Amino acid sequence: MDLLSITVNPEDTLRSALDKLNDSGRGILLLADSEGRFERTVTDGDIRRNLLRGAGLDDTLAMLGGAQSITADRTISRREALAVMKSKSVSHLPLLDEHGSVVELLDHREIDSPVLLSTPHMGDTEQQFVEEAFRSNWIAPLGPLVDTFEQRIAALTEMKHAAAVSSGTAAIHLALQLLGVGPGDTVFCSSLTFAASANPIVYQGAKPVFIDSEPSSWNMCPDALERALGQAAKAAALPKAVVVVNLYGQSADYDRIEAICAAYDVPILEDAAESLGATYKGRPSGSFGAFSIFSFNGNKIITTSGGGMLLSNDEALIDRARFLATQARDPAPHYEHSQIGYNYRLSNILAGVGLGQLDVLADRVAARRANYSRYREGLADIEEIEWMPEPEWSFSTRWLSACTISPDASIDREGLRLHLANDLIEARPVWKPMHLQPVFRDCDYYTAGNISICDDLFARGICLPSGSSLTPDQLDRTIAAIRRIFRG
Ligand SMILES: *Cc1c(COP(=O)(O)O)cnc(C)c1O
Repeated sequence: MDLLSITVNPEDTLRSALDKLNDSGRGILLLADSEGRFERTVTDGDIRRNLLRGAGLDDTLAMLGGAQSITADRTISRREALAVMKSKSVSHLPLLDEHGSVVELLDHREIDSPVLLSTPHMGDTEQQFVEEAFRSNWIAPLGPLVDTFEQRIAALTEMKHAAAVSSGTAAIHLALQLLGVGPGDTVFCSSLTFAASANPIVYQGAKPVFIDSEPSSWNMCPDALERALGQAAKAAALPKAVVVVNLYGQSADYDRIEAICAAYDVPILEDAAESLGATYKGRPSGSFGAFSIFSFNGNKIITTSGGGMLLSNDEALIDRARFLATQARDPAPHYEHSQIGYNYRLSNILAGVGLGQLDVLADRVAARRANYSRYREGLADIEEIEWMPEPEWSFSTRWLSACTISPDASIDREGLRLHLANDLIEARPVWKPMHLQPVFRDCDYYTAGNISICDDLFARGICLPSGSSLTPDQLDRTIAAIRRIFRG
């Protein structure tokens, strides 16, 4: 904000003050003395009252006299500032430095809205697709929009077949069932992930074994995987599958992971919930593994408000997924069931939302990558911050802009998070690894060497506001808040 354009002196006339109010459109002026020290705020109302009392337009602002304007120290948090404005019933709060000069003018309307981590961002065509569903009365967990949505996601990810389902978690569950995972089995899974990657392993009565991350991509470490598979082979207890997660919009290193899994003949389930739009060596996320899955939950890069997709090149398996997801109804005129099914299909209405969102996927990816670039540039000189790397083989969507805080920094990850929360900016710690979760306490965990990479990423890692609808102002507010924390 340009403070100069709203700053006036006691020698300025009421007329020039009204001109400035008119030009800035902010409804408030800052009256400062010749040294630049703040004296008081001046509003339309202040001038109007003086004119009604007989003042002329050529009188100077000195006649207004001193007023007790509410101000605060520049270090006040946004949360405290809002509380002050509320309790004093003011809509603006000048923040002063140690010389008494205004360094920032907080406007209630601008700071009242928090900066959130990742929010849904609708395009222009979602409603048209939804209206089409209404018009044709396809208000069911199947229909033409579901079919089109499946085909478009399959084409985009270069997988031959896709089944739209009610969530990413449901897609993982169906994949594990189709891979034959059952009681007594183990399934390997990235440790640094959201619980939804691992929970369906337990739904199937199997046991997860967690694998550490590599520092270069934050995703599953091929060396740790190789060690775990080697030991499992020796114990004649190979896992039924390996769930490989693509974190925060970035692919895992599939050339190495595929080679290792192929050597032990263990199938891969690619959890691409967070990485729609990313590529690995030019190949799209979601094109790896016996199965891949996406999530269209509200916080993901595109959303159907809730939904998921299961993909495979094996048509028979995807047909079977649809059958299981529709209560495993055998073909018969009556309701006939010879096995247990689920109610996992995606509604035709929500598929319409998904089709609209697919129209803007490229824009959403570009916007998230631009957020990341803006952070990097705005915080380039803060060497205490290290950004999530993007290996040369990766094109990350930067679904979330993630970084780690150096151990020598004056503040740790949690301190930073709390500071930002006080400035009404939502940041989140990097996923807490699954092997550290109380619920998975009894599960095995493999690292490549003596140290656990994902423990460290969790201890020092933080995700910054990353939504594709963030405004430049919101990003700059976040950057300024972080700069204040590290540089005062
Ligand atoms: C969001 C997410 C899921 C689950 O998707 P839902 O649609 O929320 O069930 C699975 N894995 C990862 C890595 C995710 O981020």
